[in-house]
Amino acid sequence: PDAILEALHIRKYFASRQGSPLRASAFIHAVEDVSLALYPGKATALVGESGSGKSTMARLLARMYDPTEGEIRFRGQPINLKKRSYGVLREYRRHVQLIFQDPFSSLNPVHTIRHHLAGPLRVYRRARSRTEEEELLLELLRRVNLEPAEQFIDKYPHQLSGGQRQRIAIARALAVQPEVLLADEPVSMLDVSIRLDILNLLLSLKDEERLALLFITHDIASARYFAEETVVMYAGQLVEGGPSDEVIQHPAHPYTQLLISAAPNPARVNLDTNEAPELVELPARGEIPGLLHPPSGCRFHTRCPHAMPVCKQRFPERTDLGGGHWTNCFLYNTPEK
Ligand code: SF4
Ligand code: MG
Repeated sequence: PDAILEALHIRKYFASRQGSPLRASAFIHAVEDVSLALYPGKATALVGESGSGKSTMARLLARMYDPTEGEIRFRGQPINLKKRSYGVLREYRRHVQLIFQDPFSSLNPVHTIRHHLAGPLRVYRRARSRTEEEELLLELLRRVNLEPAEQFIDKYPHQLSGGQRQRIAIARALAVQPEVLLADEPVSMLDVSIRLDILNLLLSLKDEERLALLFITHDIASARYFAEETVVMYAGQLVEGGPSDEVIQHPAHPYTQLLISAAPNPARVNLDTNEAPELVELPARGEIPGLLHPPSGCRFHTRCPHAMPVCKQRFPERTDLGGGHWTNCFLYNTPEK
């Protein structure tokens, strides 16, 4: 199947307020040569600790800002990254929507739910009459299981729980009938008891609408339940990816192995019954290096038990491990002397 949204060799550097803005070393190397692809009806988990660059990657894919280098393709066509007019971005957001981590700051407290959802319907002229608009609004609320919809439509955000607000944020994204949904840690700020409901909602929408879903998370074990594909990011670089079962059962990269060994119970998803995982936080571990002066070569070499001299010199090429599983690590791609 063809990818709907692709990132090719994306780099993103931010100017740092710390160093001199004229020197290259004063840039934060937030995303370094990242390539990934999203497919209709498929969820891809982008896994990493905070500070790994995964939120930056989501914002780049949403075109909240543009990459320093690299290409983004939508339906195989390169996006003209120099064009940033309101009209161009509005057209793009009709197809690609982003859901944020914090449902408390993503809704404007002075506006009702009706106002939040009617906005996108009007921008994209989805309704031809008031009656039709009302129907679409109620339908959106039902899609995200806020029922009875008539009771939610005129409420204000402060009258809703965190989980209900995140459902509104999802409904607002669906209002434009997108093909791609980028969900940046969509449940990490919610009560543990409702996280699974929201994730299951995203999964059923993915199936029903054949959405391409990017599920950003710090919890690698949950990726096995929620996403067909898993991609692991460390300090701005992708280190491993492939079918989630493969990556989680046979992690190749030393960093992925560390993440899995640190997860409380990596095998807690029962694949026979497809029983849902308990969602837990990862314990604090070694720090991700600062991205102002990132380590050279493989950025994991400062923590890697297998580091070799070459690891400091170069970033390893992507090595194909078979079955769609790949990694960037010199253990699998021994360089010639
Ligand atoms: Fe470790 Fe080298 Fe592999 Fe990086 S490339 S993970 S430092 S062995
Ligand atoms: Mg983040």
